[in-house]
Amino acid sequence: MSTRKVVIIESNPTVAEDIANILVQKEYNVCYAKNGLDGIELICKEDPDLIVLNPAVTDITGSCVYKLVKDNPKYSDTPILIFIENERDMFRFWGMKPQIEQNRVKFTTKADLAENIEKTIKLIESRGVLSKFQLQSDQFKEVLGKIVEIYQSGKSLASDHAKEALRELLDKVTTMLNSEVGSLMLLDEGPQELVIKASKGLSDDVVGKTRIKVGRGISGWVARAGNPLLIRDIERDERFSRENNGRYYTSSLLSAPIRIKEKVVGVININNKSSREPFTDYDLSILTILTNEISIAIESSDWQRRLEEANARIDSLKSSKRILADVARSLDDELYELTISQEVSNIIYSRLDYKEIIDAILEIIERSIDCHMCGLLFVDEARRTEIIVEIKYPTAQQEIDAFKLKMVETFNRLTGEKLLPEQVTISQSDGHEPNIDNTVAETRNILSSYQANLLMTSDRPIGMLAVTNSFPNAFTNEDLRVFSIIARHSSIAINNTLLHKKIKELSITDGLTGLYVYRYFNDMLDKELLRSARYQQPFSLIMLDLDGFKEVNDTFGHLQGDAVLREVALILKRVCREVDIVARYGGEEFAVILPATDMEGAYILADRIRMVIKNYAFGTKDNIISLTASLGVASYPESGATKIDLVKQVDRALYKVKADGRNGVSRALKET
Ligand code: GH3
Ligand code: MG
Ligand code: MG
Repeated sequence: MSTRKVVIIESNPTVAEDIANILVQKEYNVCYAKNGLDGIELICKEDPDLIVLNPAVTDITGSCVYKLVKDNPKYSDTPILIFIENERDMFRFWGMKPQIEQNRVKFTTKADLAENIEKTIKLIESRGVLSKFQLQSDQFKEVLGKIVEIYQSGKSLASDHAKEALRELLDKVTTMLNSEVGSLMLLDEGPQELVIKASKGLSDDVVGKTRIKVGRGISGWVARAGNPLLIRDIERDERFSRENNGRYYTSSLLSAPIRIKEKVVGVININNKSSREPFTDYDLSILTILTNEISIAIESSDWQRRLEEANARIDSLKSSKRILADVARSLDDELYELTISQEVSNIIYSRLDYKEIIDAILEIIERSIDCHMCGLLFVDEARRTEIIVEIKYPTAQQEIDAFKLKMVETFNRLTGEKLLPEQVTISQSDGHEPNIDNTVAETRNILSSYQANLLMTSDRPIGMLAVTNSFPNAFTNEDLRVFSIIARHSSIAINNTLLHKKIKELSITDGLTGLYVYRYFNDMLDKELLRSARYQQPFSLIMLDLDGFKEVNDTFGHLQGDAVLREVALILKRVCREVDIVARYGGEEFAVILPATDMEGAYILADRIRMVIKNYAFGTKDNIISLTASLGVASYPESGATKIDLVKQVDRALYKVKADGRNGVSRALKET
């Protein structure tokens, strides 16, 4: 374990020693350099697992060390912990590398040093277990970097220069969606037409010929509406026009807009040739995240370019010694605004969970706008609403309540919602001492200055940001501008975390029935075995196969068959308990895990399921379908002590019912 190495680059030996002490305890071998050049030399010699860097080192500055390290492919992945003495030091880094570094670079102050070292070490250790999606999305970001470079160099994405990078980008996106066919179209502003700039799996003829008017066809619709779209069966969608495309390449389709500063500049289409496995909401969520990331990367590169230009302008003014105060100030303002934009987009890329994002957003507001309190109102999918507030100065409880009332009222007014204040919970953001002082309220009105901004996803308001100050006219125009930038990016950040959550949920549920998929069932069975063994408790397993289901399909058609499967799923959900795990095991086979249930309990439940299915009128009023099911029951530990044994036994029990004429329940034999 003790082979991990850290290089500390820090001019102050006392501070360096503090850092070293923490790291020695974490079993690191510590190497130390007291200036930038020595630091670089040491990094090359030692090939460390972690670098701790103070930006204020001499010889060459910390930001220069950082750049040299990151530009060298050998070390570009090495995490860097940047030790800052005050927050302004962070500014030295913000123009340098966009958002994607967020995972590998952390800023820390002395107070948070130990904790941040801990976090960074965890990050290093988790490197090996990145999910496939994250791995692929790292490659995706690499390609994205190339696009951003082209954009930054001032060349148009439509130019020949960008061709190869756009092709790679499309290639990554299609691969991540397991597709062989797709196209990336950019908007030709003059005629308002979409033109294919990169394609995969399409004939040259189609690529050369295709021009689509905004508003026409599916891509045209997406370009106009600005929203992503999933089409499960293209032949049934009226937006699809066959003449336009000649042959069609797809049976289901994903299409999403690429936006820069809210304006649609193009569309990505991903096609799916197989009608057996159409795209799902899961795929659409992935594509939406990817196109969001394209937009943000390009936008923030734009800020970066403007930031560099502004810096250069300031430098040239300084060198000619003709600093006009107002020019300098306006540039300073611009720099400030750009910096905020970048910081917010850093959060977007960090993919924390939404609670952490909310805290981070509030912290940015508190730092950048002179407010007394700021709050974020968040409405979740179940329409539960909460407000999280960050309080900067001592505040009375009644003032917090007044702020909440005002926020709920504004939100209702802006959205037409009818939220009731008493149903909205309010809490303080994490890691803050409650700053309550009930004596301060008499002399002031906490709502003297108040500003709110909605947070939107593409189709619904998800919340609102608000700031307040007890001084009238407390917010400057710049404050308001910054506030709206923060709100816009917060919307995307929150939306992305929600999409990630949805992806996770969708990946364990079956598209047709909404039940858990086999893979999840299997994992849960492992867990249940461990748990039951530990607590010496029984649990049971029910396996169900519908009788003569082929005939249902043959007589009433596949679609009707699917509808029946959905109804069976509903019955199972209704009859089983909340804690039971109901899964679709295969085509028309279902399985249920019943925690803390013995054989007799499970048998009774299985027989109830059998009865309900037998007496249920499936199908439609005019075409009633009667159905029966065969069920097997097995219990831990009496039918078997391992997963393989249990599944084998429950299968045998089921097939015994089939052999005996169906419509029945059978217990697995005792283990012999
Ligand atoms: P039995 O179990 O009583 O022996 O007869 P069965 O006709 O149900 O036979 P079996 O369980 O072997 O066949 C399952 C049939 O279920 C085959 C397939 O046509 C149908 N099936 C499987 N998955 C689906 C699905 O997702 N939708 C529809 N509509 N049918 C499915
Ligand atoms: Mg079957
Ligand atoms: Mg069957």
